[in-house]
Amino acid sequence: MLAQRLSGLHPYVPGEQPTDRDYIKLNANENPYPPHESVGQAVQRAAAEQLPRLGLYPDPDVDSLRAEIAAMLNATGGCLGNTRVDGTACTPDERNRLPFTVTPDMIYCGNGSDEVLSFVFYTFFDGDRPLVQPEFSYSFYPVYCGFYHIPMQSVPLLPDWHLDTEAMLRAANETDSSIILANPNAPTGIALSRDEVRQMLKRAPADRVFVVDEAYCDFAAESCLPLLAEFKNLVIVRTFSKSLSFAGMRLGYIVAAPELVRAVFTVKNSVNHFPVDFITKTAAEASCRAAWYYAQNARRIISERDDFAAFLRGRGWFVIDSSTNFVFARKDGRSGDEIYQAAKHAGILIRLFRTPGIENFVRISIGTHEQMAALKKVLEVL
Ligand SMILES: *Cc1c(COP(=O)(O)O)cnc(C)c1O
Repeated sequence: MLAQRLSGLHPYVPGEQPTDRDYIKLNANENPYPPHESVGQAVQRAAAEQLPRLGLYPDPDVDSLRAEIAAMLNATGGCLGNTRVDGTACTPDERNRLPFTVTPDMIYCGNGSDEVLSFVFYTFFDGDRPLVQPEFSYSFYPVYCGFYHIPMQSVPLLPDWHLDTEAMLRAANETDSSIILANPNAPTGIALSRDEVRQMLKRAPADRVFVVDEAYCDFAAESCLPLLAEFKNLVIVRTFSKSLSFAGMRLGYIVAAPELVRAVFTVKNSVNHFPVDFITKTAAEASCRAAWYYAQNARRIISERDDFAAFLRGRGWFVIDSSTNFVFARKDGRSGDEIYQAAKHAGILIRLFRTPGIENFVRISIGTHEQMAALKKVLEVL
């Protein structure tokens, strides 16, 4: 009874979300801080005062939300951790000031960036040539390649875990292919500088879309948003899940040239006109207006991250320099599974990838100061 195509599907496996015990969750890169109270109030108001609207279809283009996201990006430069906050006003730091104004027609919104990425794959990548991607990156990319029958070319990382940008460019130019990369990368946590991405874009096929997934950029030093002024083939994918404490509500978006955004709308309107419902739209708009609060949280997470990395290194761990809200680390003499089990036994979930090559690393999301103190206690005696 099942369609044949189903036998070729290999679904993505997210970090576990168990319900058997109240774990400290440091396994899915969720934000440990709750959404700002104004987000809850906006949702309550929407349900109480605008109840009839919940019975009607929402705005299929979410125009007001796209305007709020554009305003947030213009005010923060896409790098919350470095945004200057004065009261509730945000301004980008020097390095992230945009050389142009982001406009709503440059933005597409969907039901989490996983869905947005799926539409990006459908819109821009054909089955007639491989999509170039780093060997260890977001594991949804290979899943979508399988789903849409797009061949992949995985390029191994350098021995120091950085992306091999030269090898990726060689591969892309050989087959006139698109490149997708997460920057900062996951699960390694390493960021390319904006200038390194610029150099890649200059040498990559200009007639193919180049995708930069900025899921963790708010915890990094630089966003690639300014490059949109130079490169019409650049598609930036971002999410509210991590830096905006929104993983339970689902909102992801694209920033790109309006022609490319329009193409993604065409795909969306061939699948589901309304991936962003009225409640989510309301909550997301309130979140954009509270960017100052999330900027402060991003800064706290960055400082906790750097402190935790120093703690691990002080105890002999190998820790990759992180530009994200997690660290990727291993300890000689301990298997990834031993570390994972020890934490789980103490009621703390961290992420273990059983993928050969990274099987002894664990990926630890940065939680609150108290959560990290609890984890440190466990790791101290490991
Ligand atoms: C978490 C993550 C996403 C997906 O985020 P959602 O918006 O929650 O679907 C996309 N890309 C990368 C690299 C991520 O780590």
